[in-house]
Amino acid sequence: MNNNYDVAVIGAGPGGYVAAIRCAQLGLKTVCIDAGRNSRGDPALGGTCLNVGCIPSKALLESSEHYAHLQHGLAEHGLGVSGATLDLARMLKRKDKIVDKSTGGIAFLFRKNKVEARAGSARFLSIGERCRLEVVNEAMRDELEARYVIIASGSVPMPLAAFPVDGERVVDNAGALSFREVPKRLGVLGAGVIGLELGSVWRRLGAEVTIFEARDQFLAMADQQVASEAFKLFTKEQGLDIRLGVKSKAMRAGKDGVTVEYETAQGAQQYDCDRLLVAAGRVPNTAGLNAEAVGLKRDARGFIEVDDRCRTAFANVYAIGDCVRGPMLAHKASEEGLAVAERIAGQQPEVNYATIPAIIYTAPEIAWVGETEQALKAAGRAYRKGVFWFMANGRAQALGEAKGFVKVLADDRSDRILGVHMIGPRVSELVAEAVVAMEFAAAAEDLARICHAHPTLSEALHEAALAALGRPLHQ
Ligand SMILES: Cc1cc2nc3c(=O)[nH]c(=O)nc-3n(C[C@H](O)[C@H](O)[C@H](O)COP(=O)(O)OP(=O)(O)OC[C@H]3O[C@@H](n4cnc5c(N)ncnc54)[C@H](O)[C@@H]3O)c2cc1C
Repeated sequence: MNNNYDVAVIGAGPGGYVAAIRCAQLGLKTVCIDAGRNSRGDPALGGTCLNVGCIPSKALLESSEHYAHLQHGLAEHGLGVSGATLDLARMLKRKDKIVDKSTGGIAFLFRKNKVEARAGSARFLSIGERCRLEVVNEAMRDELEARYVIIASGSVPMPLAAFPVDGERVVDNAGALSFREVPKRLGVLGAGVIGLELGSVWRRLGAEVTIFEARDQFLAMADQQVASEAFKLFTKEQGLDIRLGVKSKAMRAGKDGVTVEYETAQGAQQYDCDRLLVAAGRVPNTAGLNAEAVGLKRDARGFIEVDDRCRTAFANVYAIGDCVRGPMLAHKASEEGLAVAERIAGQQPEVNYATIPAIIYTAPEIAWVGETEQALKAAGRAYRKGVFWFMANGRAQALGEAKGFVKVLADDRSDRILGVHMIGPRVSELVAEAVVAMEFAAAAEDLARICHAHPTLSEALHEAALAALGRPLHQ
């Protein structure tokens, strides 16, 4: 085997595999090394996202939502079913099949684009005009050389010393995507995106779910009007027990369950559950790269230090995705991968970090792009806001999902859109229009003057833009 490449990519998650494909498309001889394994222990491309993240969680969210709808959502349509059953094994099999198809799809794309895939763990031996990497797996040890290296080693769940994951009673995201039976009582540490999404899955399937969050504020990163609507819907209507301002201290795990010891303003308390999901955040997966030995800098939390173009202190070593600063999102990783590949090929692409959308796939969904209202206030920026509730949207009413709203925030003087925040049906799709509008520096007036089809959910965005101009039509 010829071990000389133009580009070596470390990691085949949505950052690395996209970077590798684009490099190959641009005529660069590219190898992508990935240490990922699927639940059967076989090498599997796609990283966290495809194997234990975005894709399997969305598969289970979809299945569990069907189940919830079957139980609670059909009667108002005049439909009834008796004997609705849950076959969890089959639901999990469907999820695994989707994961296999997706990871197999990356293997196909690598072959199609002539990216060489190597299964194993990579670490730096040296960085110079050409970089030397060592690749190790259980069967072999190899060395290769590349002119450029793109580090896309992703992230792993943040371990909590007091709550060690055993994969059985105490699990991280991977374990919570594969419970073989519905827990009676599921405890979740962390009311972030992962805790809320996976907590929702098991709540819909019948578990009593209690989520412990250390912060006093719910969804601090989201617009707080959206967060407070979400909190109301999740707790009052869906029965998620979300406890804020809780310090989780310790646990005792036995054969039958887990006892969590925690503290609130009221003092020390205990909570018994049969499974505990630790979802307190994620940390960069950079420990195995031999970074410091070759002069690559990591910050105190382990993120590889890069500039705004994803370049390390070495002109020929880049890092992208979850292992560098910025939001830990698959599409952010992919955008950076694309941009870095093109920079290596001599092009000058830019990633616009101001227009990266964020989505939480609960029901209703939450999505946003740009500045929150609280951030604008804190910055002393003069803005106008328009809010339109799905209650007044015909399509949402027809769907039977008329909860939530769309909010448009626009600069008071220029009318330029500064942020769009949504909670409601299918807003994960709706937010794309707001992203495009902001990418083209649209004003609220631009959105207000664009024809939106009727009856569609997109009319809620249209109306929110009209509302920001003080002239909503339907409320
Ligand atoms: C439950 C869950 C749900 C999520 N849902 C969403 C969602 O809906 N939308 C969204 O945008 N994001 C979501 N995310 C986040 C998303 O998965 C990550 O942001 C994304 O996967 C980051 O991509 P990446 O390429 O940087 O890294 P990763 O996907 O983590 O991939 C890194 C790869 O590098 C490999 N690797 C690491 N070190 C080495 C080494 N030394 N040698 C070789 N290989 C190595 C790893 O094995 C892995 O395969 C979710 C995450 C979780 C856990």
